[in-house]
Amino acid sequence: MNIVVCVKYVPDATADRQFESDNTVDRVGVDGLLSELDEYAVEQALQIKEKAGDDTEVTAVCIGPEKAVDAVRKALQMGADKGIHVVDDAIAGSDAVATSLVLAKAVEKAGPADLVVCGMASTDAVMSVVPAMLAERLNLPQVTLASVIETQGDQVRVKRDGDTATEVIGATMPLVLSVTDQSGEARYPSFKGIMAAKKKPLETWSLSDIGVDAGDVGLSVAWTAVEETTPRPPRTAGEIVKDEDGSGATALTEFLASKKFI
Ligand SMILES: Cc1cc2nc3c(=O)[nH]c(=O)nc-3n(C[C@H](O)[C@H](O)[C@H](O)COP(=O)(O)OP(=O)(O)OC[C@H]3O[C@@H](n4cnc5c(N)ncnc54)[C@H](O)[C@@H]3O)c2cc1C
Repeated sequence: MNIVVCVKYVPDATADRQFESDNTVDRVGVDGLLSELDEYAVEQALQIKEKAGDDTEVTAVCIGPEKAVDAVRKALQMGADKGIHVVDDAIAGSDAVATSLVLAKAVEKAGPADLVVCGMASTDAVMSVVPAMLAERLNLPQVTLASVIETQGDQVRVKRDGDTATEVIGATMPLVLSVTDQSGEARYPSFKGIMAAKKKPLETWSLSDIGVDAGDVGLSVAWTAVEETTPRPPRTAGEIVKDEDGSGATALTEFLASKKFI
């Protein structure tokens, strides 16, 4: 079985994140890491491989700038067998439509995939649309937002928790699967895994390697663009209501009413 897992490199949420002058997210000047939600995707891919117990291979694919290769390395350290990093200056500023195009072409070039595993959303843009777009482009069924995943041969059965009902969905590979943060804790890379990852194959592809025209990606053809950004104002000191003369309850009520909480 061939499993491809899509891993995104995102700015570290604890770092001082910023926008570029064209209002795209700065993905180069800040520290980044493998999107935490994609760690769950890697974990599920590895569990499916371990359960299959055969020659199943897990390939981690990432689209992003030079530094984004770190996301692929982390997936290799966790246990993926191969890595692919698609990097090309023309990709900068791509929207979900273009991202899914590049991912689809990379998945196709990586070889016929039985299973394409994604996270439920990226932790930076959080659009949660790439898996569905990818499935459409690859002409594969999509089984999204799975919290429990069971496989038996080419059969996949997932639990999908909705607001009003829990669905149990069955599908046959090949398909695109996205998994939620309820699917099971992602493993930490072991020291052995970190050392082994250094010897695993990691390929770097450009747009021409996967047959994508540079004119079909990037900010200039994006369906959406951020027109303006405003830094969030710094937090102001809280207001302390003191109850020294018995007027505390009234003051508190007035404060809550002024904020329309009551
Ligand atoms: C506030 C905001 C501002 C934006 N600004 C712009 C803009 O100015 N111009 C513009 O063109 N676009 C912009 N975008 C879109 C942005 O480029 C998205 O990051 C991109 O289109 C993919 O969408 P996503 O990250 O939300 O993926 P999701 O659909 O949330 O990702 C789901 C899964 O798809 C996979 N995946 C997604 N991206 C990758 C990747 N690069 N490599 C590997 N796997 C991946 C992962 O498995 C991930 O868990 C913006 C989005 C938002 C919400």
